[in-house]
Amino acid sequence: MTIRLASPRGVRHMPVMAYEPPGHCGFCGGVLAPVAGKPGQRLCREPACGKITYLSPVPVVAAIVERRGQVILVRGLGWPPSWYGLVTGFLEPEESPEAAARREVREELGLAVEASRLIGVYAFSRMNQVIIAYHMPAEGEIALDRSELEDFKEVPLEKLRPWNFGTGEAVRDFLAQRQRR
Ligand SMILES: [Zn+2]
Repeated sequence: MTIRLASPRGVRHMPVMAYEPPGHCGFCGGVLAPVAGKPGQRLCREPACGKITYLSPVPVVAAIVERRGQVILVRGLGWPPSWYGLVTGFLEPEESPEAAARREVREELGLAVEASRLIGVYAFSRMNQVIIAYHMPAEGEIALDRSELEDFKEVPLEKLRPWNFGTGEAVRDFLAQRQRR
């Protein structure tokens, strides 16, 4: 997937990308119109179609990948040089969120996940997504998926800091949970 927004530190601004509701019907291509009292719906204006399009948030899985006491953050193709974020991805049909997160770690970093624990579930309203975040200790040598990622970096656990949007909430909770243990 392409939408992963994060920076490990110092980000004061929100990323420019944001979700925009579709303007045209996915069934017939007709123009979509708002529905009174239903902010999560759009109605096709073509009388012969008239289908409703739902603007429901899309689930996204995220992994805090820990290896040898360091968390691995990735930079997507075309991101500004200072942006690094968690490994993330969309679910495939019939895939569990946990399996999807494991698969993304394997595909994007080439690492085998040894264990996983749910950190939390977060609304990312700006992108119309729901983030399901896991802590995933992993082993192996990193083989970056260059078709999706530009770079990665390893941040020692004690230097990891949450960012103030998107997957940053999961990082904040991960660090807080770690403190309590
Ligand atoms: Zn239509």
